[in-house]
Amino acid sequence: MSGVLRLCLVALAVGMCSCRPEVLRAPRPSVDPAALRYNVTYVREPEHALDVEVVLVRGTPRDFFFTRSGGVETVWAYSETGEEHELTVDRDGVRLPKDTRFLRYRFPMDALIRRRGPDFFAGMPQEDARLIAGRSWLIRPRVAPPDLLVELTVTGVNALLPWQRGPGGVYRLSAEDLVDSGFHGFGGRRCEVRLRDAVLQVAILGHMTHLKDKELCEWLRRTAEEVRTVRRAFPHPRITVLVYPVPNRKTADVFGMVMWSSPPSIALLVGQDAEPSDLVQDWVALHEMLHLTHPAILPRAPWISEGLATYFTEVAKSRSGRQSPEQSWQELITGFERGRRQAGGRTMEEMLEENAPPGIYWVGAYFALLLDVELRRHTGNQRQLDDVLELLATQGPTSTVSAYGAAVDAVAGRPLFNSLLSEKLRLPAFSGLERLLEELGVTTTPGGVKLQLARDSLLREALDGQRASSAQ
Ligand SMILES: [Zn+2]
Repeated sequence: MSGVLRLCLVALAVGMCSCRPEVLRAPRPSVDPAALRYNVTYVREPEHALDVEVVLVRGTPRDFFFTRSGGVETVWAYSETGEEHELTVDRDGVRLPKDTRFLRYRFPMDALIRRRGPDFFAGMPQEDARLIAGRSWLIRPRVAPPDLLVELTVTGVNALLPWQRGPGGVYRLSAEDLVDSGFHGFGGRRCEVRLRDAVLQVAILGHMTHLKDKELCEWLRRTAEEVRTVRRAFPHPRITVLVYPVPNRKTADVFGMVMWSSPPSIALLVGQDAEPSDLVQDWVALHEMLHLTHPAILPRAPWISEGLATYFTEVAKSRSGRQSPEQSWQELITGFERGRRQAGGRTMEEMLEENAPPGIYWVGAYFALLLDVELRRHTGNQRQLDDVLELLATQGPTSTVSAYGAAVDAVAGRPLFNSLLSEKLRLPAFSGLERLLEELGVTTTPGGVKLQLARDSLLREALDGQRASSAQ
């Protein structure tokens, strides 16, 4: 046991680790680099950690920080003359001495997992593989001009990061790409899902009891195809999906999250004991992929983003034939009832202010349904909510609530969004639900949902049917 390790263990006992990344021995650069250069090493001994060395560009800002702080407490900065400075990382990050040429730190994955429990920000371990969000381990300059180039290499492990590796295994990025660096997979196995217009690069970070990698990847392919019942093309030419098997769980849909890295990256926690039939029941993978169909709404408005993903999850499952339209309406009605119980008579506006799951998902999904139906009513069933997503996709990766509203109005061909929203905000959440279902011909009976002829049943059939996929 080395002296450094003993010191680390003592430090761990008092709840901190400032172990110097001893394994990094890169020579001090003799010429100025053209880009910030990250040399990352996956360390296994004495336990899993990431050793990071950042070679600085002359003249770049000296303020660095972790988007998610708390994982690294000490950074070592090295000057032109070989001088070493030990810097404490606080909530604001570190300010490097003026003549710093490079810095080093260790992100102590396993130590953090022991201390805080496994999660996306300490790391999710399984055997030698790790799933982790880049924002907790990757230090970045506080100012990230798009013209500041970044080169990044990972050695010691097969890594799947959101970005595409270039020649020599080097990721060539802009500093902007580090603002949300997405989900990172280290180790595990790989498969590639090829759609006709997109590729999903998949890392499987652990072992499934009953499912082969091939079956998991086929499930992701089917799910990605369902996204195409909402958008004409898969929304990104390439994304990464990290699958983490959760021990002692059988359901496929344990948890999922999409991160807005560029391109986006998705983490899916899947029950390790899931069987093929559990994959058919899954909704989480589809929900996360459907988040790719809308822009990131800033400032965040979960009632729109979660509402869209929740609404279209049920719509897409019926359009693809994975479940019957009756089942989809049943799922929507059950969700609306859950939301209504959480609302307890409060207005939609109060629900938006509370912004708490699951109610916020279902309030948003109900409003998405209202918009979809109104768009179809005003355009003779020619335009729909899908068209709003197509229009927004031409306007960039981010949007705002008002730009979303403007896109709805543009598709409707008349002002619609603001009047419908202000009317619903004042009323108890889910008001008008029963009447809307009646107009659509959706009837709840003790034996389940029945779909029948009604004033707007043609709209309903277009909404839950095969239109989007067959129209291509
Ligand atoms: Zn979501």
